[in-house]
Amino acid sequence: MGDPRRRVPRTDVLLAHPRLAEAERVLGRALVKAVVTDAQDRARAGEIEPEQVAEHAIAALPTAATTLRPVVNATGVVVHTNLGRAPLSRAALDAVVTAGRATDVEFDLATGRRARRGRGAMAALADAVPAAGGVHVVNNNAAALLLCALTLAPGREIVISRGELVEIGDGFRIPELLESAGARLREVGTTNRTSLRDYSSALGPDTGFVLKVHPSNFQVTGFTADVPIRELATLDVPVVADIGSGLLAPHPVLPDEPDATTALRDGADLVTASGDKLLGGPQAGLLLGSADLVEKLRRHPAARALRVDKLTLAALEATLRGPEPPVARALGADVAELRRRAEALAARVPGAEVVACAAAVGGGGAPGVELPSVAVSLPESCAEPLRSGSPAVVGRVERGRCLLDLRTVDPADDELLLAAVRACMS
Ligand SMILES: *Cc1c(COP(=O)(O)O)cnc(C)c1O
Repeated sequence: MGDPRRRVPRTDVLLAHPRLAEAERVLGRALVKAVVTDAQDRARAGEIEPEQVAEHAIAALPTAATTLRPVVNATGVVVHTNLGRAPLSRAALDAVVTAGRATDVEFDLATGRRARRGRGAMAALADAVPAAGGVHVVNNNAAALLLCALTLAPGREIVISRGELVEIGDGFRIPELLESAGARLREVGTTNRTSLRDYSSALGPDTGFVLKVHPSNFQVTGFTADVPIRELATLDVPVVADIGSGLLAPHPVLPDEPDATTALRDGADLVTASGDKLLGGPQAGLLLGSADLVEKLRRHPAARALRVDKLTLAALEATLRGPEPPVARALGADVAELRRRAEALAARVPGAEVVACAAAVGGGGAPGVELPSVAVSLPESCAEPLRSGSPAVVGRVERGRCLLDLRTVDPADDELLLAAVRACMS
């Protein structure tokens, strides 16, 4: 037969293979060609037979044109930063698909004229928080804070408690963000205690605003005091409250977590929050507050650089108007129901056990709050194969066991989870 390398099929022949041609329509030529070239190289290197090239290329085809892979979040961390924070509701996902095509995001179909961008999402937000005179949405909460600093305190001072100089994660520090906007920070009080006097004696002609930041990922306990928004509102300067998590109204399961409605009723002039934490929507920065101030922010030149995409507007509106998103479902889940699901799963997997455990809200808020939960407990050795499966299942390893916490798993995914667990236990 001569040199086997001469028998390696040509690229055009391989790309004409029905399975590879079909894949090219879904994934595009570059991705398919890459797996074909790789399989040809392996045949030339003698790792596989030339006759197996097509088969190997087909097996190596990616399932989608993105390298992002779906994950079942069984960590018990409701808002898991590394897993993309809030998963979207079905309604929000559908809205993203609609908005991904040509859409009337900035167009009035009745008149044929330009219309206010994202008016549906803005109306939904305004309806959800009647206490807000004005609303605006930017790229994330960091962008919302940046816009406040750029608009209200360029070259001026932002007064903030030393107990609220927060690092959010991945080296992102709120004080540094504000300084990058050309504002100066005027730190008041101490790490554990700050009083209204500390704030009032720091105010002067250079004050841009007072910033109240929710310590959303740590707790200071013991001899502590901070100043509630209600008291800060008695000062004669704008009060901006960064509530972090994006709760729009008080939540029964998280009584200590700040919410936008209460912050505004207590006298905050502006509230900033994330869209993809406890609100359960897309990444976004919510700005709510006095109509005048919100309009000022909206008119700042930098607002254009911070504006959100149509996909975000669509997902946000559907999150606000549509059915309960997964984050809300996870927070409100009934423990008896979680136990029933865990028992149903464990009954079908020899070696699996049901254990009580504690879930957490996560980097999104409510530090220290434990949510009673129930997990399917597997040998620790399952953690790795579950993570590398399809879909990937991410649990948490605790005391030598791999726990799959059902509070953060959508009940609709229980069958997927079962199949993944069975595969790794067999
Ligand atoms: C999460 C958080 C932020 C950052 O929000 P992003 O939407 O990620 O930019 C800012 N402040 C607080 C208090 C937070 O909890």
